[in-house]
Amino acid sequence: MPICALCGRDVPTLTEHHLVPRSRGKKGQELPTVMICSPCHRQLHVLFTNEELARDFNTLEKLRENEAVRRFVKWIRKQHPESYVRVRR
Ligand SMILES: [Zn+2]
Ligand SMILES: [Zn+2]
Repeated sequence: MPICALCGRDVPTLTEHHLVPRSRGKKGQELPTVMICSPCHRQLHVLFTNEELARDFNTLEKLRENEAVRRFVKWIRKQHPESYVRVRR
């Protein structure tokens, strides 16, 4: 099974998160993306606006250093990979 780049769990499917939103990219530019599970993906978009993601969290390292992300990852690692996980606000 694929492994989420953020929480490191084996999950049934991964989703592609654009570290730099498509709207920010210059024409023909290769935009960095990460493959993460859908709960992680939803959580990122709940925690941060697209502005913040593009400005402050445009690498996986920066996301991992964020306290809220770390708390979420710690929590999600205890959840069963296939159970539907509600996004906490
Ligand atoms: Zn994940
Ligand atoms: Zn995304």
